[in-house]
Amino acid sequence: MSTTPPTETEAKPDSGDTLDSALVTARRQLERAATHVDVDPGVIERLKHPTRVQQVTVPLEREDGTVEVFTGYRAQHDDVRGPYKGGLRYHPEVTAEECTGLSMWMTWKCAVMDLPFGGGKGGIAVDPKSLTDGETERLTRRFAEELRDVVGPTKDVPAPDMGTDAQTMAWFMDAYSMQQGETIPGVVTGKPPVIGGSYGREAAPGRSTAIATREAIDYHNQELSNTTIAVQGFGSVGANAARLLETWGATIVAVSDVNGAIYDPNGLATHEIPTHDEEPEAVLEQNAPETISNEAVLELDVDVVIPAAVGNVITADNADAIAADIVVEGANGPTTFAADTILDERGVTVIPDILANAGGVTVSYFEWLQDINRRQWSLERVNEELEEHMLDAWANVREEVEAKDLTWRDATYVVALSRIAEAKATRGLWP
Ligand code: NAD
Repeated sequence: MSTTPPTETEAKPDSGDTLDSALVTARRQLERAATHVDVDPGVIERLKHPTRVQQVTVPLEREDGTVEVFTGYRAQHDDVRGPYKGGLRYHPEVTAEECTGLSMWMTWKCAVMDLPFGGGKGGIAVDPKSLTDGETERLTRRFAEELRDVVGPTKDVPAPDMGTDAQTMAWFMDAYSMQQGETIPGVVTGKPPVIGGSYGREAAPGRSTAIATREAIDYHNQELSNTTIAVQGFGSVGANAARLLETWGATIVAVSDVNGAIYDPNGLATHEIPTHDEEPEAVLEQNAPETISNEAVLELDVDVVIPAAVGNVITADNADAIAADIVVEGANGPTTFAADTILDERGVTVIPDILANAGGVTVSYFEWLQDINRRQWSLERVNEELEEHMLDAWANVREEVEAKDLTWRDATYVVALSRIAEAKATRGLWP
């Protein structure tokens, strides 16, 4: 079911397990969910297509005075529940189709969290590493201008994604505000707090992954203090999730980065291991009784495994070797469609990405609320409200798991689709 867009695909399985595009995956997920919900087929048909995909030309004057022209996109999938919401990525493989598929994922993610947003996604087909800071700034400002008519706090609210960050959002917000003639922080989220960003935004996807893990353990009548966990990827999502779960009493036996993993059956001190941001790829330099491969991390005999690095790491090739009872998807699309089926048949619980890592877009919603109300929240308030939203979403999904005997992934999509379909039916089709 869940596969990652090609840009995030690192591992290619060789056992006939297909890696579909984000758009194919998103449409298949929609069709699957539709079999469990009583929805007008016209609504499903409408949801298979984006409202619009804006394609723009973004010229850039390079440092040597030459001009290069890049292509940018903004896919807006559905806004029946509120403004489009989703990231802007700078990556050489950004395409209109990829943005469309990812914008559909954002529609489901916002709906399952019951946020008043629909799905959007965009970006520029460019290698961000080939740009100087000055070039990135000029490219971003011009992109903001090209998208000015279709974005805005009540229309479409972009956020950082692959290859973009808080500074990129600051430039985007500034360019938009200058042209509108007033400061409009709510046009994007993921900004630095000094210009209207929210505390806790960066750590939020890891925090929600930790909350989902805690709830899954509780659902299996286990205690966190008796739980062993392996985490693949020690970046923003993996490190924040691992550290929080360790603080809450779990034993984190393995963590990894792109170079490999460290393993200690008695538990690692995750707060002492530098994250990808603090010191890139430093995991193997830490003291630990054993080092193991990234593949082996996923197959450890632990209670929970959290893939939090890249997509398509659990495939038909290794799904039979997953020894954990629970997989919590911190990364986007770590489990392929074929692997998902195998894990389900083997009785392994998979908590899907659009629920587990939805803390990011949820705190983006809090940021947007803070911006339009011109009132900043404390970190404590952000974390309290995130906890509340995650517990509500968890309870809604659990209800579907139990009532319809669904997997957690199917139940998550059912919750999302029901909300969107009800909103569409209530508003009606115009004209
Ligand atoms: P990051 O760049 O901060 O960290 C990624 C980590 O994974 C690093 O430790 C890196 O060394 C490791 N890694 C990279 N390639 C690997 C590979 N092939 N095998 C094993 N480890 C590898 O990234 P992040 O922001 O933590 O994102 C991780 C995943 O979570 C991605 O799938 C991303 O799309 C998803 N996600 C991120 C956010 C967010 O806001 N940060 C929100 C939702 C989902």
